[in-house]
Amino acid sequence: MRNELEDILYESSPVFYRERILDLEETLMCFGFECGDGWFEPLLEFSKETRRMNGLASKHHICFVASQVKEKFGEIRVYWHLRQFPDFSEVNPDDEGIKKLFVMMDDAISTLSMRCWNTCEICGSVQDISTTTRGRMRRLCKKCAACHNAEIIKHHHKGNFHEPIHSKQ
Ligand SMILES: [Zn+2]
Repeated sequence: MRNELEDILYESSPVFYRERILDLEETLMCFGFECGDGWFEPLLEFSKETRRMNGLASKHHICFVASQVKEKFGEIRVYWHLRQFPDFSEVNPDDEGIKKLFVMMDDAISTLSMRCWNTCEICGSVQDISTTTRGRMRRLCKKCAACHNAEIIKHHHKGNFHEPIHSKQ
């Protein structure tokens, strides 16, 4: 994703994206958003939601922090972890209040994932979206698929590739 768009996303949820400035040994967020510009709008909605959730989480003295956001097999993947503050240490995930927050984050990621699945990763169109391939799988509209000489893959369903869409590190 291009830098101007990434900056808007970072600003929309500064705490969630706070580790983007760390080195590669500590976070994969240093690569920015590893997907096309077309998914900016769904990601902006999601980012605003993470800001709202971090507002709620702050009552438990914790916050959600992104570790990686990327496209894989045509789907968006968001990896995140929780931090305690003010010292930003690891969090005990068995706390009941924290479990509720996990569910909220799962829901927000499911919504984002569905929106991206139905949005062209290049231009952001929501018309005629299908899975395409030209070396790798991407969710593109008909026009972008034609522009990039990508072949349309029929009968490819969301979640064909069973991988967790988030991690709780
Ligand atoms: Zn397109």
